[in-house]
Amino acid sequence: MTTTVAWSNWSGSVRCEPRRLARPEDEAAIVALVAGLAGDRSTPLRPAGTGHSFVPLCATDGVLLSLDRLQGIIDVDPARQEATVWAGTELHGLGAPLLAAGLALENMGDIDRQSLAGAVGTGTHGTGRTLGSIATQVVGLRLVLASGETLDCSAEQEPEIFAAARLSLGALGVVTRVTLRLLPAYRLHERTWAASFDECLAGLAALIEANRHFEFFWSPREDACAMKALNPTTAAALEGPAEPPAAPGRLARYLGPERVDWSHRIFPSERTLRFNELEFAVPAANGPDCLRELRSLMQSRHPEVAWPIEYRTQRADDIPLSPAYGRETVTISLHQAHDRPHEAFFADAEAIFRNHRGRPHWGKMHRYDARDLRAAYPHWDQFGAARRRVDPDGRWLNPYLRRLMLE
Ligand SMILES: Cc1cc2nc3c(=O)[nH]c(=O)nc-3n(C[C@H](O)[C@H](O)[C@H](O)COP(=O)(O)OP(=O)(O)OC[C@H]3O[C@@H](n4cnc5c(N)ncnc54)[C@H](O)[C@@H]3O)c2cc1C
Repeated sequence: MTTTVAWSNWSGSVRCEPRRLARPEDEAAIVALVAGLAGDRSTPLRPAGTGHSFVPLCATDGVLLSLDRLQGIIDVDPARQEATVWAGTELHGLGAPLLAAGLALENMGDIDRQSLAGAVGTGTHGTGRTLGSIATQVVGLRLVLASGETLDCSAEQEPEIFAAARLSLGALGVVTRVTLRLLPAYRLHERTWAASFDECLAGLAALIEANRHFEFFWSPREDACAMKALNPTTAAALEGPAEPPAAPGRLARYLGPERVDWSHRIFPSERTLRFNELEFAVPAANGPDCLRELRSLMQSRHPEVAWPIEYRTQRADDIPLSPAYGRETVTISLHQAHDRPHEAFFADAEAIFRNHRGRPHWGKMHRYDARDLRAAYPHWDQFGAARRRVDPDGRWLNPYLRRLMLE
């Protein structure tokens, strides 16, 4: 079934009018659609998830291919702690069936509304110095290539394509199924509290070390931080205060009552206010200085921005286009309301990130082009070689991806 509609992303920063929004009902229909367009260079083709990226990764005036009808678990193997999942599955649909099989995702980000393929394809991550992005949990996937052929890849099968495909922005083909490495289901204990900026930075290294997941939001209006720590627990419930800790102003939004629950119920928050976002990954050792400079920037040149800065950690990984490639990482994100100007603020912040060897989050706003990205990624050309092998004609590249991929 196909329908024609105007498409926009979550924040409203990207709008496009695809000739066709295709919502194939199964993998065979995806293969037939892509194969049918294989020789048609006049019809661009882009895969889309739930549109939670802030940049025009999905934008096309050709065929926008949504996998929103491919939801759920295909196969789960509790002994191997792995599950194969339809790529369109929204992350909130994974928690309950995985729990029923005694399993859980290793980590999750701030929300659970994204599709699995979209989250994997942009390096979506949570926080934790020993933990990688969701893409690091992928052990295999199936691609539908521009030719209409399918290609299964893993560390053993087509390893070069697999290395690139784990984080590939929909530039290698349509991912239809993803096999994930999982953990035995676990409960998390969540604790939040407020701290002054100086207290936060003084205790930061110890907090990152001591907690499986630690992050904080620095709020410019209060010049204070909302701190959050999550740790696995065997406790079934919590006997504690039901009220969130006291906090001034906006900070209170980021604090909640102490609680214990299954991991997939603790990780995600609700984001009801729309915003635009920029995020960079910097070497972990640069994190505190980078944050200090961003705080000075906001206090001196952008006092109009009331949205907080989010500070998280990620372990080094080996995925060619991962912002955490080869280095212990801190990610720092800045926000502005979706209907307020963000350009000057984000441009000033990006200059600071560049000085700290920052790599932009692929789903968030930035101004890097192919030259900047090549300088930031030691295996940039490895990704390019894999992309050209499976898509020599650049069928998956829209104008935004051309700026990122082609010098
Ligand atoms: C409120 C909010 C909170 C967020 N929180 C976090 C966070 O905590 N951590 C974080 O790292 N990021 C976060 N993000 C960013 C978000 O996770 C990423 O932008 C993610 O890509 C969105 O997933 P999606 O399903 O919406 O993908 P889309 O934005 O629709 O697509 C993203 C990319 O994936 C590709 N793609 C989608 N489906 C397929 C497929 N089947 N095959 C091949 N390619 C495909 C698209 O072509 C595109 O290049 C957040 C975004 C928002 C709006």
